[in-house]
Amino acid sequence: MQLDYNVIKRKIEKESCKIHHEKAVFKKSIKGFTIQTCCQEFEKIIGLKSEKIIAEETKKAVETSLKKMFK
Ligand SMILES: [Zn+2]
Repeated sequence: MQLDYNVIKRKIEKESCKIHHEKAVFKKSIKGFTIQTCCQEFEKIIGLKSEKIIAEETKKAVETSLKKMFK
């Protein structure tokens, strides 16, 4: 199963820090990905957000592959 990291990247980079107004920077890496943030506070927020986004994208990817399977 392959996650669409472009979708995840777009969603994460829409977020910006409420204190510094800096955007999160999403980087794909060998182990998965990293998210660069301006401060720890924003890192916490974006951490939770990315978990949610990835859960959603995983669900979508599973549904898509199931649909293909039963066609
Ligand atoms: Zn910040």
